[in-house]
Amino acid sequence: MTGQKKDIRALSKEELRDFFVSIGDKAFRGTQVYEWLWSKGSHSFDDMTNLSKELRAHLNENFVINHIKVDHFQKSSDGTIKNAVKLFDDFVVESVLIPTKNRTTACVSSQVGCSLDCSFCATARLKRMRNLNPDEIYDQVVTIDRESRLYHNKPLSNIVFMGMGEPLMNYKNVLESIEKITSDEGLGMSPKRITVSTSGVPKMIKKLADDEVKFNLAVSLHSAVQETREQIMPFAKSFTLEDLRESLEYWYSKTNRKITYEYIVWKDINDKWEDIQALVAFCKYVPCKVNIIEYNPIDDGNFQQASSTVIDDYIEALEHNYIPVTVRRSRGKDIDAACGQLANKQ
Ligand code: SAH
Repeated sequence: MTGQKKDIRALSKEELRDFFVSIGDKAFRGTQVYEWLWSKGSHSFDDMTNLSKELRAHLNENFVINHIKVDHFQKSSDGTIKNAVKLFDDFVVESVLIPTKNRTTACVSSQVGCSLDCSFCATARLKRMRNLNPDEIYDQVVTIDRESRLYHNKPLSNIVFMGMGEPLMNYKNVLESIEKITSDEGLGMSPKRITVSTSGVPKMIKKLADDEVKFNLAVSLHSAVQETREQIMPFAKSFTLEDLRESLEYWYSKTNRKITYEYIVWKDINDKWEDIQALVAFCKYVPCKVNIIEYNPIDDGNFQQASSTVIDDYIEALEHNYIPVTVRRSRGKDIDAACGQLANKQ
């Protein structure tokens, strides 16, 4: 723990400016400190060389700068990197860097554990311990950007909120982190390069549309049959496909942006012709594309990826209906860095 001092990164730029005015200094000091904390990523008041020694001492007495620390670093044979990062209160979350030919993508966590209960996901076993703060999400991105430059000689190009946690159950902090990632005083990244992935929380999808966010939305659908979806994602009893559909129609009417559906095909779960037809029908509600993702086993043997013939049937049916579909191969499996495998094994 960090004692009684306040984390300075919890203050907005306005609050920082007000603070300096309140101690008889100039408001622009607040902007200077804000830049040190965010765009320059400083972790110590002593770095802030454009402030007087007295002022730095005053900040040291009153504030701390909480920041994440890479606790464990792993590099996969395919170049994927996984960081287990320690938070100020010793909780650990994981984030991943996925390099491909044309992009380097950061996959970041939004919660310690997860609020939801998808039975095929390792993170769901951890339960939700707490939400990440905006700076803790931001720091994961900064860390991965540095690693991308160091190990792959190029900056980060994309960010996906597909690490641990349900981003829409930590709505405010996730949006605040994206605000900092995209602002010029932060990393200045385009929101078009950011995708938030949700298991499907209808109320919050509508809120995203009302808040006119500019990033992309992905929904982990996995089944377009209510009964099946409830079996594998029990929370879907309260967040039904019907409500999900309505929220996605609302999202599209407000944003005009396509949705991506993530979909895993499992043996004996969603590998029947009816499952394929249900997905095709669901895909007709709003413009979308489907990303079929490879299942990464999580030790309990309850789930098995369907055969490639079934996956081909899915692709054929979707393409036949002019629905774009891609198949995503998993990366970083040898270090448990692939989707659904993030569970702090270390
Ligand atoms: N809670 C959010 C983001 C985290 S999960 C969401 O559900 O979208 C990121 C993606 O990994 C989701 O599509 C999720 O369904 C998928 N996933 C979970 N467990 C998996 C596993 N064992 N193998 C492959 N993908 C998995």
